[in-house]
Amino acid sequence: METVENCDFWSDEAEVCIVNNNAGKRFRFLKLANPSQTWVTQEAIDHISEQIAQRKLSDRPNLSFDRNAQPDERVLGSIKQTDLLIVNVHAIPPELNLSPIGRVEGRAALNSFGFMLRRAMSAHLDISPQEIRVGLRVTKHSDQIVGQVFLSDSLENGAGYCSHFKQPARLKQLLEFMADPNGDFLSKWLSPDHANCQTSCPDCLRDYANLAWHCILDWRLAVDMAQLALNASANVNLNSPHWQPLAATAIPAYFKAASLEPMTLAGLPAGRNPKRPQRVEVIIHPLWALNHPIVVQAENDARAAGISEPLAKKSLFEVLRRPF
Ligand SMILES: [Zn+2]
Repeated sequence: METVENCDFWSDEAEVCIVNNNAGKRFRFLKLANPSQTWVTQEAIDHISEQIAQRKLSDRPNLSFDRNAQPDERVLGSIKQTDLLIVNVHAIPPELNLSPIGRVEGRAALNSFGFMLRRAMSAHLDISPQEIRVGLRVTKHSDQIVGQVFLSDSLENGAGYCSHFKQPARLKQLLEFMADPNGDFLSKWLSPDHANCQTSCPDCLRDYANLAWHCILDWRLAVDMAQLALNASANVNLNSPHWQPLAATAIPAYFKAASLEPMTLAGLPAGRNPKRPQRVEVIIHPLWALNHPIVVQAENDARAAGISEPLAKKSLFEVLRRPF
């Protein structure tokens, strides 16, 4: 891996193995009743029948099944040679937790960063986003779990899109393109027209190809990751310009809906349960570790204010997606 700014990266041509387990359900193949060894899924048959009906075709194929053959459940895979680009944040400040293991916020940040990279690369190279595939990889570095974004060219043998960024200067330029609030790319996400997007939408990160990730994609987390990839001291905080307007509306609305009395601890928004005044919930940035100095200060302030129960911590990510 090489490092540019605060971003580790590796790029080359290599073999990529793509596995499709049908969202964990696997594919159930049935054998057709013909002399050949043809196995198909019921979904494929239904699709063909639908197409025949829609196009009013007359020559329906004989698609009866061999009743003596047991169904065969398989996972599909393909191996191809193509161009890759792997990136991760180099130095992670100790007050942040970007781990994709056991933390949905960490997985969300990495996936969002991956799909943001894909959009930025496609804008930069003037190609369709579908020309680039996005995945995650987890590895270990000096006993620390490291989540990596894994990008590959969709075309067999590569089209040179991912490897275009193997030059450190080009990758740096791409990250700056993504993280510049006044630049062509990010200014659209920060514009008043996009202010109502609480998590992600087709104008920022969502498209048909990343349907499975829509519920966790978050453009604000993607911006945090892009800024961190350029600078380990980036301001990862709910008071940063891209989080503050959302925090200012979503957190009071949550406290009201949850019947919590708003208060502030170490500058953090907190809600007290009026029926159980010792129970206080503090709202934190999704990527903060629980030992973040401001969280520790909030604990101390709570104790000083006579709150005996440990503070409950809830990230704004949870407030927006599963508040109760
Ligand atoms: Zn959006």
